[in-house]
Amino acid sequence: MSGPDLAQLRASAHVVSIPLTTPFRGVHHREAMIFSGPAGPAEWSPFVEYDDDEAALWLKSACEQGWNPVAHHLSLPTTIRVNGTIPAVAASEVEALIVAAGHPRTVKVKVGGPGTTLMEDVARVAEARKVLGPTGRVRIDANGCWSVDEAEHAIREMEHLDLEYVEQPVASLEDMVEIRQRISRMGIPVAADESIRRWSDYEQTLAAGACDLIVLKVQPLGGVRATEKLLEKADNAGVGVVLSSALDTSVGLHQAALLQARRESSHPDALDAGLGTSGFLAHDVVKNPLVAHGGELTLEPLELDPQDLTERAAPPDRERWWLERLERCWKLL
Ligand SMILES: [Mg+2]
Repeated sequence: MSGPDLAQLRASAHVVSIPLTTPFRGVHHREAMIFSGPAGPAEWSPFVEYDDDEAALWLKSACEQGWNPVAHHLSLPTTIRVNGTIPAVAASEVEALIVAAGHPRTVKVKVGGPGTTLMEDVARVAEARKVLGPTGRVRIDANGCWSVDEAEHAIREMEHLDLEYVEQPVASLEDMVEIRQRISRMGIPVAADESIRRWSDYEQTLAAGACDLIVLKVQPLGGVRATEKLLEKADNAGVGVVLSSALDTSVGLHQAALLQARRESSHPDALDAGLGTSGFLAHDVVKNPLVAHGGELTLEPLELDPQDLTERAAPPDRERWWLERLERCWKLL
């Protein structure tokens, strides 16, 4: 593969630190290394706690995006379908969020976790169903925080709300297998998200019978080509796929969105993507950010915004940390 060498990567790198609009896993800023590659902008943003082996896969993705991208054969601008997101808010806030999002046809409602109770979860999901109406699609995501019993109980309580799927109701693979068996009579698909962090997790998750759907993220899987291989495997196995973001800036979102656009043209029934996440970041780094409205994202050619890159530049100690990380991960490629 024709890719960049370390000097080329370093010379084209900008380290940014972008405030999050809602803190996520105790993090208030999203740090990323953005490259201006010869084939276009590229993003490398493994979460700071990830080890070098994992971060190297994300780097493979960035090298592909900026130096050797997959030809997409699409005429831009084009649009893709994405879900809106309802965080663990009170039910009374749901309608305003859906209206502000331009009434997407699909919403993902966050459930479980320390900040909410089962009663509040059910009320929030019921409100989303009410606002979207019978043709809307309501998916829920517990981020693996329920026990099997809690998940079974919660899903029973929401069975009548016509759920599109339940994402990562429980954390471990064994528990995913068990909850899927326990709710099988309800006909609600179970989606694996956190269960599939690396390419190698896929076979294990599928072989265990732990899910009906998988959530795929381009950067952690090592790029578009790697994700396409998994898509093909999933299609052949009859497993549904939701393309999703890793809390990327618009640069990372763009490559996944191009993949979604190609998928929608070949699979008209493709599930709506989880790529409408740029709003979780208070700023972006491109002139034309991928902002979802009405459940759609419009894709244009990407153009980095030099002013954003300067204004969002990470402090010198963080820049150093990222450059050292780059050097270590580069050696692992
Ligand atoms: Mg998820």
